[in-house]
Amino acid sequence: MRNWLLECPSCRGELAGGEDELLCLSCGGRYPMVNGIPVLFAPGDDPTVDPGGIRIKNPAEAAVTVAEMNAIDRGFIPGPRAYYLLYLAAAAAALGWRSAFLAPFVMLLALDWIYFRSRRGGALKRFERNPLRLRSAGDWRIVDSAYEREGKTQPTMSDWVGLGGGRGALDAGTAIADDERYHDILRVYRSLGERAAVIADIGANDGRACWEFGIGAGRLLVGVDVSRLLLEEFSARLPEMTAIQADGARLPVRSGTVDFLFCTETLEHMTDPSAAMAEFARVLKPGGLMMIQSPNAHRLRNLNIFHILTLVLSLLNDRILQRKIVHENTWLNACTYHWDFSLQHYKRMLRGTGCRIVETRSSSFFFPLFLLRGRAEPYRRKERILSSIPVVKYFGGDLVLVAEKTDEPVSLRMNPESKD
Ligand SMILES: [Zn+2]
Repeated sequence: MRNWLLECPSCRGELAGGEDELLCLSCGGRYPMVNGIPVLFAPGDDPTVDPGGIRIKNPAEAAVTVAEMNAIDRGFIPGPRAYYLLYLAAAAAALGWRSAFLAPFVMLLALDWIYFRSRRGGALKRFERNPLRLRSAGDWRIVDSAYEREGKTQPTMSDWVGLGGGRGALDAGTAIADDERYHDILRVYRSLGERAAVIADIGANDGRACWEFGIGAGRLLVGVDVSRLLLEEFSARLPEMTAIQADGARLPVRSGTVDFLFCTETLEHMTDPSAAMAEFARVLKPGGLMMIQSPNAHRLRNLNIFHILTLVLSLLNDRILQRKIVHENTWLNACTYHWDFSLQHYKRMLRGTGCRIVETRSSSFFFPLFLLRGRAEPYRRKERILSSIPVVKYFGGDLVLVAEKTDEPVSLRMNPESKD
């Protein structure tokens, strides 16, 4: 185990030990190694739910839930394209047909609001049948045990792409969008060149970023995840890399050791995203980069009346937008999706962490998906064009942040060259 890199998640003391257990030399904390993976949760991070109450949904139930999530996002109007027409109508109204257009427009929005509320009620009723509410990293460990009890595996990112869009041609579009996320990370990773010696993947899942896209290949990649079952797949595919089961908001990684950290499709699931962002900054070396991708609160298909209201209110106070969204418990009972972020949130979370923003924009523009199904190159071209247009570039499906660590680290406790 790479003890020069790891530290006690409780007191940040030095860890010693080997195959079976890691021991903190400062506070005496003991951390087990399970199937070669260190379990480095801070003491006190206990589950908030009863392990006996967890039931794993079958794939059909999960598909229904995903469809309900989409319905919540879209409100009364069943597809994003209809929304674009609505926005056009709104623009036309603003340009002068005010009296003729405003009444039906407002009525549509009111219907949308009612429909949204009713869908939300229905979805929450579903969740009552699955009493689990994941609130802490400790709860995720319990999910692992439920999967083991039922002899199932945790769904990986690849599974998610397959089911999330699982209706023929739409699936191909979703897969391309997912892959483009990794290509985007790869671009930033490559910009560091040889300087990127230590790479951290927060929410590493099964390590797809490395084995499919080469991010961190040939370097030291540290995969952090709350799920040991996913990390076991990570280790099976990437035996030379380091898998750590830990909470991303309490990284058992020494300050100033990481050159490139990325966190994709993960920050929105965390209990305390601000704490996680501070941790990401702490472990970075000066000059190191972090890259975060998470759902964009301002994505176009999100702009039903409910979201429009929160967006307007967020102009007064950006905390209003950082609200828990309604589905606490969705994908196979294991995927919680708590937050929608905006650019303002990213900026606020970075404040005081010693990082400067290098790049902010959005990606995964859904329009015009129906023209791009299964075609990666036109998709990429469309992404480039839309993300270069002022204002428009902030309305994509994902928000992208790249930040650079600028200040000197508080302490570098050991020379990273002297491994083990
Ligand atoms: Zn300790």
